[in-house]
Amino acid sequence: MRDKFVIGNWKMHTTTAVAGLLAKAIRDGLGSETRVRVAVCPPFPYLALVGEVLKGTRIALGAQNLYPEAEGAFTGEVSSTMLLDLGCRYVILGHSERRHKLGESDAFIDQKVRVALTAGLEVILCVGETLDQRNANQTEAVLDRQISLGLAGVTAENLSRLSLAYEPVWAIGNFAHHATPPQAEDAHRGIRRRFKQMFGESAAQALVISYGGSVEPDNAAALLSRPGVDGALIGGASLHADPFLAIVRAA
Ligand code: PGA
Repeated sequence: MRDKFVIGNWKMHTTTAVAGLLAKAIRDGLGSETRVRVAVCPPFPYLALVGEVLKGTRIALGAQNLYPEAEGAFTGEVSSTMLLDLGCRYVILGHSERRHKLGESDAFIDQKVRVALTAGLEVILCVGETLDQRNANQTEAVLDRQISLGLAGVTAENLSRLSLAYEPVWAIGNFAHHATPPQAEDAHRGIRRRFKQMFGESAAQALVISYGGSVEPDNAAALLSRPGVDGALIGGASLHADPFLAIVRAA
């Protein structure tokens, strides 16, 4: 049985004051909920602050990106070493906003995944098709490519620190158009099939695949009760404690 996993992706939101209050409200509101694995991923400048608030709790800290070198002359970048130093357990890689707005390639994402896993971080690798790709019946091919190329450098001993997130680009930040539960289930099945071809049956059965794209309290239970939908990666609804905690409870 795979544990449910709920991740808050704060993207480029919050301030020092808001990040501190949000982290405290999530920490205090989570209560004795222990079934679900929970992580929050604030922007880089607030990792230390949020890490301090969450210290000693079961809410894990994650980052939204890294640069695939341990240190060096890379102005403006942040390394896996720094994230570990700040207490991060997770890192989100391959988010569609980085693929499409910042031009990240599958090969670059593969480098990041490899460096992050080798450094000891747990990776949440995002994959997902655009609306045009879905309409052209390319969803499966796109997911296959993103998984094959994005995980090309991953070795068996690091697989236990890897999870995937299916995030259809058309469903992100678009509450009118989240994926339906059957659409999510279908995509997750395809992702697990591809993963099995690469890493074998038991790795595929152990793989946690979260869904992301306009998850909110009203649709969370229907999505998360589908076979193979093991978690939720939440953007907008993670920016306030109440909806985020409601999704954790629904998981
Ligand atoms: P959303 O974002 O929940 O606001 O759609 C999800 C994500 O991009 O991780």
